[in-house]
Amino acid sequence: MPRVAVIEGDGIGPEVTSAALRVLAHVCARYNIDDIELVKAPAGDTALRVYGSPLPEESWRAIRSSDAILKGPVGETAGEVVVRIRRGLDLYANIRPARCMPGIECLRPQIDLIVVRENTEDVYIRAEYLHGDVAIALRVISRRASERIARVAFTIARTRRKKVTIVHKANVMTVTDGLFRKVVREVGEREFPDVEIDEMYIDAAVMDVVRRPERFDVIVTTNLFGDILTDLAAYVSGSIGIAPSANLGDNKAMFEPVHGAAFDIAGKGIANPTAMILCTAWMLKWLGEKFNKKNYTEAGNAIERAIEKVLGEKKVLTPDLGGSATTQEFTTKIIENIQ
Ligand code: ATP
Repeated sequence: MPRVAVIEGDGIGPEVTSAALRVLAHVCARYNIDDIELVKAPAGDTALRVYGSPLPEESWRAIRSSDAILKGPVGETAGEVVVRIRRGLDLYANIRPARCMPGIECLRPQIDLIVVRENTEDVYIRAEYLHGDVAIALRVISRRASERIARVAFTIARTRRKKVTIVHKANVMTVTDGLFRKVVREVGEREFPDVEIDEMYIDAAVMDVVRRPERFDVIVTTNLFGDILTDLAAYVSGSIGIAPSANLGDNKAMFEPVHGAAFDIAGKGIANPTAMILCTAWMLKWLGEKFNKKNYTEAGNAIERAIEKVLGEKKVLTPDLGGSATTQEFTTKIIENIQ
């Protein structure tokens, strides 16, 4: 029985999560899915206020014993919650697709790429030291982590346009990025000879994501560069409210919207739940593959089709997309369009 931990999060988190759970309940009934066990796992700023910890022990237990985590955005405590889950469960691959959805005004309509970001190393290991007036940070890049993230990127590329671009700065960080580039290339050449390998410096890559994103299919990169590149790609492909992401490990996965807690619009009922609903669809497809359940995959696809239809019609949209619908009205429209 697939077990899913649900983190509502902060700010607009509870609103978009409740919208996503409404869609999930509907699609489960429609596709005869009756075996998902949902467990609420409070985490984030609200959890800190109520339970004295951003990730209370009981939540961590629920998360650890789940197959998948559906996570809403977390506010100030995001670092503590997200980093602990990613590292604690070894969710080493952060996957963020960026493509122009129907009906969405995109800076570059031709964008259709996936960023595969290494999620566990780099300067994000948080080993920073202060020696008097000098601050020092450690950057860790290992062969093992580079190999496994490379495999994820090449495997995804095989299902798409068969091209992987390694993004790095090996001309300056010759040892760390030098190793990353070398190992990713080796994996590609040895195990995925049918996939084209390309590489770019990070500074050139950010320019091209804006200028000519069609040159990219799958980008594989280290943690910090990936963090920056993915927000940029989300912006180029339209509203931040529509971009989902996944953190994948070998047996567990966490799905979360790219956007943050957006406190400025929290409680107003106008948040766009698209990213969170797309996370739910992605999670169903991932669970479908893991548990070999076709109806899960079909349910995930049905959600995606309904979202594309509603966005494409441009009639019922939330204010961030130029409409006047509330979160709940938009969600109802999605549900009505699930075939
Ligand atoms: P963080 O610092 O964690 O990234 P944030 O709330 O400061 O979080 P973003 O999530 O990047 O930043 O959002 C920036 C702005 O975009 C928000 O303040 C909000 O106005 C808008 N926004 C973000 N997500 C949504 C959404 N789902 N629906 C509508 N507007 C959104």
